Amino acid sequence: MINTLKEIFHNTTRSLEVLYVLENLKDVVRMDANQLEIEKIKNFCHEQRLFLEISDFKIIKETDKGKGAFSNTARKVPLNYPEEGLFHLYISKNKNKATFLKMMETKGDDAAVGEMLGYPQCCIDFFLENKESQQRMQNDYILPALKNSEGMEFDFHANYAVRYFDITLLSHFPHNFSCKDSINIAKKNLECIKKHSKELAEYFESKLKCAVLYTEHDGIFALEDYNLKNNSLEYKQILGTVNNQLLGTLRKNNKMEVVSKNEIKIGEEVLEDIGFMTFI
Ligand SMILES: [Zn+2]
Repeated sequence: MINTLKEIFHNTTRSLEVLYVLENLKDVVRMDANQLEIEKIKNFCHEQRLFLEISDFKIIKETDKGKGAFSNTARKVPLNYPEEGLFHLYISKNKNKATFLKMMETKGDDAAVGEMLGYPQCCIDFFLENKESQQRMQNDYILPALKNSEGMEFDFHANYAVRYFDITLLSHFPHNFSCKDSINIAKKNLECIKKHSKELAEYFESKLKCAVLYTEHDGIFALEDYNLKNNSLEYKQILGTVNNQLLGTLRKNNKMEVVSKNEIKIGEEVLEDIGFMTFI
């Protein structure tokens, strides 16, 4: 099933969202797609008896600095806007739910949208509280979530920082990395993945267990096969959203000193205003 989904929805994150609907883990999901993809998705939904609603607006994505081709910032434009854009799709087994989600999003009711998408209340509140400040940044809630979190070592289920590599068990920003409700959702999702593909479940688990170096503008790095002892971190492999000087420095050193969850030292270089966290 996952392979079939990937043919239609291309990336793993979107494919899994639809799997969760088919497996009744989610009532309704939302995703982006371009015009070409929509034609395939329409056929698929018809075959699977899923209801599909398409937004009455397009979105133009602004590519974030330092996050590969990833974008968290989007601009809504009317359907007749000349530039090519993406549409929001709402998919559910229940027609009313797909329609209602579309309505709530058109109205801009973020609280209702979050609730319909099954996000925990604590995380919806967190999203609303930080929305204004994060819109000025790159709409990425990693640093506020880390600030909300105690310590820097967390359950791998809550690792939402490697979603840039198409690896995640969540579809929302957890309000902190120990959020119990988020971890429970992620555990159920992982069980569902396991049922369909042991291989993918194992791959996810191994990739989610990593140390993460998050920077606002210089990329996000997953440090794999890591060992953290007395503030000294060693790692064997790196996944990065960008190929830049920082990646070069990380590769050359293979270790760093963790001063705090917002400060690290690599060689003689001190990096502040970063986010550092580990997932076990
Ligand atoms: Zn939460």
